[in-house]
Amino acid sequence: MSGSLVTASYIGATILFILSLGGLSNPETSRRGNLYGMIGMTIAVLATVFGPSVTAAGIPWIIGSMVIGAAVGLYAARIVKMTQMPELVALMHSLVGLAAMLVGFASYIDPSHPLSGAEKTIHELEIYVGILIGAVTFSGSLIAFGKLNGKISGSPMLLPGRHWMNLAGLLVVIWFGGVLIGSESIADGMVPLLVMSVIALLFGIHMVMAIGGADMPVVVSMLNSYSGWAAAATGFMLSNDLLIVIGALVGSSGAILSYIMCRAMNRSFISVIAGGFGTGGGTPAAAGAGAQPAGEVFPILAAETAELLRESKNVIIVPGYGMAVAQAQHTVFEITKLLRAQGVNVRFGIHPVAGRMPGHMNVLLAEAKVPYDIVFEMDELNDDFPKTDVAMIIGANDIVNPGAQDDPTSPIAGMPVLEVWKAKTSIVMKRSMASGYAGVDNPLFYKDNNRMLFGDAKKMLDEVLAILKA
Ligand code: NDP
Repeated sequence: MSGSLVTASYIGATILFILSLGGLSNPETSRRGNLYGMIGMTIAVLATVFGPSVTAAGIPWIIGSMVIGAAVGLYAARIVKMTQMPELVALMHSLVGLAAMLVGFASYIDPSHPLSGAEKTIHELEIYVGILIGAVTFSGSLIAFGKLNGKISGSPMLLPGRHWMNLAGLLVVIWFGGVLIGSESIADGMVPLLVMSVIALLFGIHMVMAIGGADMPVVVSMLNSYSGWAAAATGFMLSNDLLIVIGALVGSSGAILSYIMCRAMNRSFISVIAGGFGTGGGTPAAAGAGAQPAGEVFPILAAETAELLRESKNVIIVPGYGMAVAQAQHTVFEITKLLRAQGVNVRFGIHPVAGRMPGHMNVLLAEAKVPYDIVFEMDELNDDFPKTDVAMIIGANDIVNPGAQDDPTSPIAGMPVLEVWKAKTSIVMKRSMASGYAGVDNPLFYKDNNRMLFGDAKKMLDEVLAILKA
């Protein structure tokens, strides 16, 4: 393939990637967006592999690695459960970081590496920054993977003097950057590169370990952004324009997503990075971390739930992580169809951080073929709860916690939540009184107009559906 054909293919692929991102911004066009992305990526890979920068001797290696990579990817995609998707995404971000590190070291020891002048300085700076971003992304994403699948505790690890440690690390990294630029030989330069890599890896671990459970959504989108910048840095090292453009697209869209997630949680980006918001994982919050709600809890049966739904005019369904665990989305839609056929106005309220990854609930509802025009974002229907007969909360917890508004000492104080308690009746469907991801107890469960339908969401909804059908 000639150089000009490769350039034309890269421009075509870039346009397709931009169209892909545009398509992904709306559930109705997201399939088309995915298709554009797939075509764009195929063109990009073919143009790169058969372009002038790859020699004939290299092609069997590339094809061999692609076959192995594709087989592993296909296998992982087939076996991964919907609830493991966020972990898989974190793992993939870590691979982008690792790739950037490896490409950085390979470019440094490449014999065609320029050994003098401005060209040397620029190339070495690209390598240094590329390995730095890659290492932070790699180790940070691995820790995020551990936190998302529960292997590492969600509680923030707050080392004494951690900000000073980070600052000291940054200064050492800057100093070693100067040492690298001044080094005379590749062997000399390896020392600063290795020292910086170790510091960057430790920084990635420290940064994500210090982040509290409730801030994880921002971290997931932030690492998504970092993986984009790592890819862009790889593009600079390999002088590949397409990789620079794609990396910048991913990096900036991830940064915008981080901003949206921060806004959804009423947090500033800096305070997220500083860490410590929300305690961790599945147990009630520690003493002192907000007043512990208490009072009577009113359990309800599936038959009573069905009756309440049947008698309602307006119902809002609030899905959360538990719906993903129970895989209850199809039954939810069956119930929705039945109620709508009987004239009940059923809508879905989606919190921006519901589930374990951005857009988690939208993906599940789209998979169950719930029409997009009854799926609303939190801000669009939060004012409608007072006019709602039943708010049905399916496996959600933190996103409907009134303590975020009422209790300034709550670890999630200030986070906007769906105001389900303002409905005539709220029904929370979950297995126990356990807390959600942020580890905060929920005063909603003790409200007079709240009912608890205890059990696995799929099992309970199947029962409700059977009664509604009868
Ligand atoms: P939560 O984690 O707050 O609550 C989920 C609830 O689902 C649990 O309390 C659990 O209670 C219940 N549950 C689990 N399995 C089942 C089941 N089989 N059937 C019925 N219920 C079940 O989830 P939310 O969606 O409300 O909130 C998301 C949380 O995750 C927020 O704290 C957010 O910050 C965090 N997060 C979000 C990310 C994102 O990008 N969206 C990324 C990382 C974290 P029980 O055990 O009693 O059944």
